[in-house]
Amino acid sequence: MLGVLRIQGALATAGHARLLSARLLASKSTTDMTTNRGESTQSAATEHFDIIIGGGGLVGTTLAAALAKNSTLADKKVLLLEGAPEFRGFNPTGPYQNRVSAINHNSIELFKSIDAWTHIESARYKPHDNFASDVACIIENDLILDAVYARVKEAPNVEILNKARIQCVRLPRDSNSNLSELQLQDGRSFSCDLLIGADGANSVVRKEMNVDVFSLNYDRMGLVATLELGEDACDNSVAWQRFLPNGPVALLPLTDRLSSLVWSTTNEQAKMLQALPPTEFVDALNEAFCRQYPRVELADKAVQALNSLFGHNGSQHQVQYPPRVCGVLDKSRATFPLGFLHASSYVCNGAALVGDAAHRVHPLAGQGVNLGFSDVRFLVESLAAGAYAGFKLGDKQHLIKYERKCLAKNVPIMLGVHGLHTLYATQFSPVVLLRSLGLQLTQNLPPVKNLFMRGAMGQ
Ligand SMILES: Cc1cc2nc3c(=O)[nH]c(=O)nc-3n(C[C@H](O)[C@H](O)[C@H](O)COP(=O)(O)OP(=O)(O)OC[C@H]3O[C@@H](n4cnc5c(N)ncnc54)[C@H](O)[C@@H]3O)c2cc1C
Repeated sequence: MLGVLRIQGALATAGHARLLSARLLASKSTTDMTTNRGESTQSAATEHFDIIIGGGGLVGTTLAAALAKNSTLADKKVLLLEGAPEFRGFNPTGPYQNRVSAINHNSIELFKSIDAWTHIESARYKPHDNFASDVACIIENDLILDAVYARVKEAPNVEILNKARIQCVRLPRDSNSNLSELQLQDGRSFSCDLLIGADGANSVVRKEMNVDVFSLNYDRMGLVATLELGEDACDNSVAWQRFLPNGPVALLPLTDRLSSLVWSTTNEQAKMLQALPPTEFVDALNEAFCRQYPRVELADKAVQALNSLFGHNGSQHQVQYPPRVCGVLDKSRATFPLGFLHASSYVCNGAALVGDAAHRVHPLAGQGVNLGFSDVRFLVESLAAGAYAGFKLGDKQHLIKYERKCLAKNVPIMLGVHGLHTLYATQFSPVVLLRSLGLQLTQNLPPVKNLFMRGAMGQ
């Protein structure tokens, strides 16, 4: 018997979350779980893995593929646990999906290194040419998942369990204790040397790690949709973003005549836009991209000064407009809550966090999942180096190196994106003036816009 622990976890039932206190009585061979009301007790044999990944979204599944591909870690037994039913696959000849990601150069390199890129390339994706030398592109989320899931299914050392929702977790108190343990909602239990939380922004693993979390609800929704464009789209190879008083609206190219929409706005406006008849919705969107806002004299002067600093004549710069939207695909509109989250630490003895479980950021710079893929790269490199040097997989002394690399990369980007959101979202003067300046800067001043965007694209 290893001991008794009281754990609080969130259990979602029919859309309503209710708190459940569970008591985990763990031993090496059996695990019993009893709710705080003593409703049920289940026992199951505890199976052991070297590494368990909790959460098979984009980041968790890519991590499983990257672990399987790494030759130093090839002898490690890995379990991927996903709460949802098995992924149904991606149909490259089917309708375009409304969830897409702007993928940066570093993420593409990761896909290449795990043999997932040819799968994506041979299906469908759209490179865009905002930057002459950049290979960044827009890819449907399910296509990325399809590519990495195929690699995981081929891996002899990785097991996948679907409908496997982690209910509670127990982590070693110090580096002398050996195992991390977890129990699923259906009563099955597992132990491992390292538990990786890839279970998204409401991570159960993170809660048990007992790390401080800084989180903000932006009171904004991201409205997504698949849009049909007019003939002025030409080859539609440019991503557009405009900062509006309620938040940015972006068009991400999918094909010559289709783009994906991400419109960040207040909860009320998002719900209203989602419910509008298609023609009225399209009118509202075209109006959002083309409407002129009053110019601010001070901002204009600042833009001119910055233009001359970069050797550009701002007054000659023509404001460009995106292609006209002429339709929205049926049932493609959906909304997602937006927020900011950052865990103060990504590691502890026996556990580590990746992706949205560690950090969540506004989609205005297309960074969220790219940061998650960068975590994957850093974690696999660190684990391989640690295994080679003889460290235990869950040893915090070694995991901390992973955390340091992530923090150095993630924190400046997250602060920058959060700062931009705050600048545009604040209604009070004098920030409104700065916002006007920022709006004109990002729309009318190519060098400044490109500097910011290059950072966002991982260059
Ligand atoms: C509107 C919008 C647009 C975006 N656009 C971009 C973009 O262009 N570029 C970009 O880089 N990022 C973008 N993002 C961010 C990106 O979508 C997220 O960062 C990314 O999906 C996070 O992936 P993840 O695997 O870490 O987490 P998630 O996608 O949240 O996956 C977590 C997985 O864990 C599973 N899970 C959860 N709890 C449990 C449990 N207890 N037990 C077992 N399994 C569990 C879930 O079922 C899920 O499959 C956007 C986000 C939004 C909302």
